[in-house]
Amino acid sequence: MNAPVELPMAQPAPAPSSPAPVGVHRLRIEGMDCGSCATTLERTVRDVDGVERVAVTFSTGVMTVDGPASDEALRAAVRRAGFTVRDTSPGASTGPRLNARTRSTLGATALLLAAIPTAVLGAPDRAVEGLTIASILLGGWPIARAAVAGIRARHLDMNVLMTLAAVGALAIGEHVEAALVVVLFAIGTTLESLAMDRSRRSVEALLDLAPLQATVLLGSAEHRVDVGQVPVGALVVVRPGERIALDGVVHEGESAVDESALTGEAVPVTKTVGSEVFAGTFNEVGSFVLRVTADAEHSTLARIAQLVADAQGTQAPSERFVDRFARRYTPIVVLAAAATAVLPPLFGGDPSTWVYRGLALLIVACPCALVISVPVSVVSAIGGAARRGVLIKGGQALEDLGRVRVLTLDKTGTLTEGRPELRAIEPLDETDPDHALALAAAVERRSEHPLARAIVRAAEDRGVPIPESTAFTASPGRGARATVETRELWVGGPRQAREHEAQVPPDARAMQDEGQTAVMLGEGSRLLAVFGLADRPRSNAAAALTRVRELDGVEHVEMLTGDSDRVAAALAGEVGLRTWQSELLPGDKLTAIRALADEHGPVAMVGDGINDAPALTAASVGIAMGAAGSDIAIEAADVALMADDLDRVPDALAHGSRALRIMRQNIAVSLATKIVFVALAPLGYVSIVVAVIADMGVSLLVTANGLRLLRMRTGAGDREAREQPGA
Ligand code: ADP
Ligand code: MG
Repeated sequence: MNAPVELPMAQPAPAPSSPAPVGVHRLRIEGMDCGSCATTLERTVRDVDGVERVAVTFSTGVMTVDGPASDEALRAAVRRAGFTVRDTSPGASTGPRLNARTRSTLGATALLLAAIPTAVLGAPDRAVEGLTIASILLGGWPIARAAVAGIRARHLDMNVLMTLAAVGALAIGEHVEAALVVVLFAIGTTLESLAMDRSRRSVEALLDLAPLQATVLLGSAEHRVDVGQVPVGALVVVRPGERIALDGVVHEGESAVDESALTGEAVPVTKTVGSEVFAGTFNEVGSFVLRVTADAEHSTLARIAQLVADAQGTQAPSERFVDRFARRYTPIVVLAAAATAVLPPLFGGDPSTWVYRGLALLIVACPCALVISVPVSVVSAIGGAARRGVLIKGGQALEDLGRVRVLTLDKTGTLTEGRPELRAIEPLDETDPDHALALAAAVERRSEHPLARAIVRAAEDRGVPIPESTAFTASPGRGARATVETRELWVGGPRQAREHEAQVPPDARAMQDEGQTAVMLGEGSRLLAVFGLADRPRSNAAAALTRVRELDGVEHVEMLTGDSDRVAAALAGEVGLRTWQSELLPGDKLTAIRALADEHGPVAMVGDGINDAPALTAASVGIAMGAAGSDIAIEAADVALMADDLDRVPDALAHGSRALRIMRQNIAVSLATKIVFVALAPLGYVSIVVAVIADMGVSLLVTANGLRLLRMRTGAGDREAREQPGA
């Protein structure tokens, strides 16, 4: 088993496109629970020798550093700022661990709790005092250390505020209050950072799905090999009940694969020779051999995880608002706190009363809940959606999704299955139907259009030999041209016919009235034949559109198609659509989308992402369906639905508006508490313990509220319920 394996090994050195070139460090930071922690950490690390550039993304917990700095120096700086670096080497535990800050929080809590029975049992004051002070020291040192880093970085973060408050409380002899501030703050931030870390890991967990080893076939011998060592082109055996280790194409055999890890769709997909299969998906019953098409680092799963991580790192518009607010709010309230502590005693006020009120205000100056309210929602919403096969490309796309007023859909491949079939051939000038089909197929053989593929497939199925063709040109939205057997032929719809000054025959109209797309074959202005192609509407199209209409925000649904009006009308009738625009060229779709946006507000466009890329870009939110196998579709869209399932469209829209709602709730609750406490603290209605409890309580509340977005609701449940007879 351990005999040396002679494999054409992949380069052990990182490939040129590897994400981490020399001199760039990428570290995962744990324990960050507020946006300003990222700033403090950035400023601390910037001073390390050899650091040229540093960027810390709070929402993903990733720090990237450029420059020749040593790893040890970076780790030390991270510790100085009060955080930990997570070990991401393969095999390292990914479960929550007790980091230094968590341990000190637990210790401080225990000491403070021990002080209660000690006091009740009538132990000397000394003992009680000793316990509270020990608790302050133990729980407070990481906070104080982080505060020092914050001050050095000239950054007034919450650690600075809490440290000042605790020191101030000690100074006026309020040890118990000081201990409570420290312990409650430590508990609150620890819980928050655990929650944030959990939300950040939701997508990394996806990556763990792909096995670390694959069974590589060499001749007739099988070898277990680390996936990192398996080169593109290798043959890999996949057994029943096994997760697929690498992306590939089925080379031999047949099976059903559960692709829910990627697409969120639990219905197994049949795989036969030539089908694409993806790393991380689960092979159910059959056994097959796949030919590897991408190395482990570049699998679809890895790319999705990377895209999601990048998306989680982008700022949502609301977050920018909140950050701007916090940047002004904190210094103003800190000044107010100083004024409260200093000014009234100058005019005869009792110093300890006013210092105490100033300390309470200092705690209220912490924008903790506010700054976490949006990022925790964005990270959870994007992570939760990704686990359902809905890739949202960033905070902006997420909010836009929640604001959509109009949904526009492409016809072919979106509302229909996108697999048109040839139903009829009407020979005109070319009297032999098979020869007409052969000529049309010759023109279309190089086209990617679904109609073209259907014509080529029909010719192949009938065993009609397809002649060679040259000088192929495709004109999007019209058709295609090529030279076949020295004849210059064109294939296309009514628009193409009109442009060649050919008469659209009555046969074509009759086909269209039956809902078939009429494709004509012509030579100059002479029509040779008409083909009728039918594409079935998706079985769930009508139900999915009904769900879209039931959503709160969406007031208008419209189909945009390049096909003729008769075909559009027939399909609209079948799926229950009232509005559509037909015979649109790709550019016309952009104009139509802009006009709808002017009239109603933000527009979402759903398409296959390949020939609709410009329209997807023009819409406020471009949604590409069935993106699992297509890089172009994933790139072009703001939202990529990995599954080829129309039901995901209402799911995604609903998820977006729920995310927007939760962000607004979070902002409102945290702003409202701040306003109330800022008003009450100088009047003496707020004890510093209450201020900390309110701060931490609201922070935890908004965090918990944001984490709800980790679960994306899907309509599939409703559908099952509806299908239950009598339910
Ligand atoms: P849709 O909006 O349905 O995706 P397209 O913009 O792709 O439509 O195409 C619009 C129309 O142009 C089609 O209905 C067809 O009549 C014609 N057409 C475009 N490309 C081709 C082709 N390669 N072969 C035949 N007809 C084509
Ligand atoms: Mg199209």
